[in-house]
Amino acid sequence: MPELPEVETVRRGLEPHMDGAKLERVELRRADLRFPFGENFITSLEGQTITSVGRRAKYLQLDIDNNLVLIMHLGMSGSFRVEASSVAAQPGNFTLPKGVHEKHDHVIFHLREASGQPCRVIYNDPRRFGYMALIARSNLEDHKWFKDMGIEPIGNALDGAYLATKFQNKKAPLKSALLDQKMIAGLGNIYVCEALWRAGLAPTRQAKTLAQKSGKPTAMADRLSVHIRDVINEAIEAGGSSLKDHRQTDGSLGYFQHRFAVYDREGEDCLKSDCKGEISRMVQSGRSTFYCGACQK
Ligand SMILES: [Zn+2]
Repeated sequence: MPELPEVETVRRGLEPHMDGAKLERVELRRADLRFPFGENFITSLEGQTITSVGRRAKYLQLDIDNNLVLIMHLGMSGSFRVEASSVAAQPGNFTLPKGVHEKHDHVIFHLREASGQPCRVIYNDPRRFGYMALIARSNLEDHKWFKDMGIEPIGNALDGAYLATKFQNKKAPLKSALLDQKMIAGLGNIYVCEALWRAGLAPTRQAKTLAQKSGKPTAMADRLSVHIRDVINEAIEAGGSSLKDHRQTDGSLGYFQHRFAVYDREGEDCLKSDCKGEISRMVQSGRSTFYCGACQK
């Protein structure tokens, strides 16, 4: 499942082709993905120009010059590939080699890039948990997908004080509290495990221990907020370098290989140089938590 860094990598791969591009034709090969596209999907897009390629949490948000926003979510298995005369960006680790799964190509955007070159952006999704919808720009903040959404994990809003304020009365385990999308949007299971390991914090400790009695952040809260930003930013950078390293390959966007320090490493040695522990796994709220019992307190 694509996490926020993959979605941001997709955004960066699409942007050079789609920003400022005219949508000459929109081809839907079925009536729905996870949800129906809606009656006016094609007519609202064809002939229009894309004015920006943005992202909020794991949603891509393409502004259209008729004041609609094209929302695209990759679900479990969605990906894009770009077919263009000049391919600006090509990420590595292709899970969907070109030509192999074309029956899962569900949406094709036929574009005229800002440079005047023709380009096709193809959405492929074998499991069809992804979705696309058009929402008026003026209604976006109030839309059910966005109105209760927490802050971005890589923005300046995430700091120790934010964590302390939000968590000061929470007895829930820290790991579960961090996965609450109303607090931090787009922060997924893998990156929470990694950030807690880096910060040396046990996933089971109560969330409220990040706040002092006064409500001020503890040193742990400050430390954790920095590690959250770092793990996400490093993954985005890894995606960015995979974009750079794999130019001229097949144009697929979105998945790349990460190297995780703790996630999916059950039974292996802890990678902290001063720790002799090994990585354990437990299940919290139905999700696997990987952690080192020796250095995470
Ligand atoms: Zn350890």
